[in-house]
Amino acid sequence: MPVLNPKTTHLEFLGPPGAFLVSFGVPAVAYALYFGCSEPSGGCPPKVNSQRVVHALTSADFYINLWDTQATIAYLAWYAFCVAAWAILPGDSVEGTLLRNGGRKSYKINAFSTFLLALGITSGIILRYGPESFAFIYDKWIGLLTAALLMSFVQAAYCYASSFRQGALLALGGNSGNFLYDWFIGRELNPSLGPLDLKWFNELRPGLILWVLINASMVCEQAVRRGGLRNVTDSMWLVFVFNFWYVADGLYNEPAIFTTMDIVTDGFGFMLAMGDLVAVPFTYTLPARYLAFNHVELGPFWTAAILGVNFLGYYIFRSANGEKNDFRNGSNPKNLKFMSTERGTKLLTSGWWGRSRHPNYFGDWLMGIAWCLPTGFNTPITYYYAVYFTVLLVHRSLRDDEACQKKYGDDWNKYTKLVPYKIIPYVY
Ligand code: NDP
Repeated sequence: MPVLNPKTTHLEFLGPPGAFLVSFGVPAVAYALYFGCSEPSGGCPPKVNSQRVVHALTSADFYINLWDTQATIAYLAWYAFCVAAWAILPGDSVEGTLLRNGGRKSYKINAFSTFLLALGITSGIILRYGPESFAFIYDKWIGLLTAALLMSFVQAAYCYASSFRQGALLALGGNSGNFLYDWFIGRELNPSLGPLDLKWFNELRPGLILWVLINASMVCEQAVRRGGLRNVTDSMWLVFVFNFWYVADGLYNEPAIFTTMDIVTDGFGFMLAMGDLVAVPFTYTLPARYLAFNHVELGPFWTAAILGVNFLGYYIFRSANGEKNDFRNGSNPKNLKFMSTERGTKLLTSGWWGRSRHPNYFGDWLMGIAWCLPTGFNTPITYYYAVYFTVLLVHRSLRDDEACQKKYGDDWNKYTKLVPYKIIPYVY
């Protein structure tokens, strides 16, 4: 009989040293994006005086000032709101995919209604008290970022500790026995706090919805400076609408998350917690934060061109994910070709999945570029997301290819011969 929780022998991220570097690197980048591109620090990028930087980084005050009690309370209130909305708002109960232990978890689908409720409250505040009432996120940035980082740390520690209870189903990649690595990569597959599945909850709600609320706050900050919401620039509205659409789409299609790698394969540790709670809301929002203090006017031509890039990306992203979801849920409305595998699962070989092995990543990447373009070309820093996302998607596609190679063996080799491009058809 196979062991339920086998020891992990293949380590990703170059093992514990890589886990250590990423655990420090991602927060460091999140802070650096603020200090390297903000008004209080002197611009984007500020004129660097290396002596001042060294002095700041070696003084205790610098680190003490990363903490802000008010911001921490505001962040905890936001997190509590998300939990309360999940508990109170109605939602269908949907079963996740079949687990290794033969069971399935049941999830309440109400991320989209949580989003609507958050938007309703935010709009009410802005309409009633004016844009200045919601611009506080701009001023409290560092404190909120620190609070989100601590939340990720605490959750990862809780998940790691609770994974040692009897009967826990561990992630196949998270049971190496090395404390640092398992804490980082996620030891338990679906850690919970009572009835709340932490991985699934964090993946869509507190970080993704906060992304939109932070952008809304940046719109408000610009509105305050320009004399009202009517005077907000076209570039800011583009970023706001693009990100809003992306998040709304993800939340509306909440059940699609059940077939993603994060949910099916990965455990929940510091890597995912930090990605969901820190990277998404506090680094993906850089274009909007930049536009709050740099008012770029695009005009109709550039607005239309950037809209075109975004819609092309969205079309590819949605149709590719739709084809796979339909297929994995047992239907094939476009009559796409597929190949059978010894494992019993079929693989699409025409449509988007016949053009590249991760066509959804290609669409996602195009959209990412469109989100940075409204910031213009005065600084490369605002293109952080496009660069980061390229690295993330290439790394992720290699990880997934490796996992599929293990899963499907020779059938995967046949598939890669039929579909040689990894992400961008005919290019890569
Ligand atoms: P995918 O949705 O691409 O899922 C990969 C899985 O799909 C494979 O493991 C395999 O699993 C299945 N598959 C592979 N090839 C085929 C085929 N030909 N036919 C049918 N099934 C196939 O990966 P992710 O979970 O990484 O991404 C999900 C979405 O999330 C993507 O759209 C991505 O762009 C987005 N994303 C966004 C991020 C962000 O920060 N904005 C970060 C990461 C992802 P199996 O065969 O077992 O079903």
